[in-house]
Amino acid sequence: MTCKGKLIIILLGPPGAGKGTQAKLIENKYNIPHISTGDILRDAIDKNSTLGKNANDYMHKGELVPDDLVFDLIKERVENPDCKYGALFDGFPRNLAQAKMLMNIQYVKQSKNFFVFLINISDDEAIRRLSNRRYCPKCKSIYNLIHKIPERKKNGIYLCDNCGTELIIRDDDKVETIKNRLKVYHESAEHMINFFKELSVLHIITNSIEQDVFRDITRIIEAESTLEKD
Ligand code: AMP
Repeated sequence: MTCKGKLIIILLGPPGAGKGTQAKLIENKYNIPHISTGDILRDAIDKNSTLGKNANDYMHKGELVPDDLVFDLIKERVENPDCKYGALFDGFPRNLAQAKMLMNIQYVKQSKNFFVFLINISDDEAIRRLSNRRYCPKCKSIYNLIHKIPERKKNGIYLCDNCGTELIIRDDDKVETIKNRLKVYHESAEHMINFFKELSVLHIITNSIEQDVFRDITRIIEAESTLEKD
């Protein structure tokens, strides 16, 4: 599907809500790039760039990295030609200041199709999902031991189905860090959610099953946007 004008989608929700999974499905359906600030920051840490060095300590503790780092990253990213017809933000904005910044950039102001989806799950469910998550440090594939179980194990350690690398638990998916991430989420998300509610762009998704969440999201986009079928 293509769209007249830009399609901008924001996915909100606690860590573990499945934003990354939905993002991949949305990206494929609407041909807009998936911009995950978490992925960009993790990549910067892997490359040991200045951004990575500045973000590292915050991320390992489950804290938010400073807003100015994220603003610069987003402003630069939306200049990329692949964002011409829109973008899907996952993990950004994270607080009211970031939400206001986003609404103020020209890129967003020009969009007629602007959607914010909040995928709601409980803290217990978030902890259950994240503590069962396994990550491939090489090809970045994500698994979980509840419903996306890797096929092979070596010496008790799961291997990536894709490239055979030993899977790890990401530092920020360790239980203590998860609890801190949830605390940070609750502290910083409320004002941002109210802000989007007042702008009448917020859609709350209460389903938690992957296919149902995607169905709800696409129904709303198709009912309310100026999208055209190819
Ligand atoms: P995520 O993969 O979205 O859960 O992000 C992992 C970590 O990256 C977070 O716990 C934060 O430390 C950092 N991070 C990602 N996005 C943002 C953002 N928009 N603002 C501040 N910190 C962020």
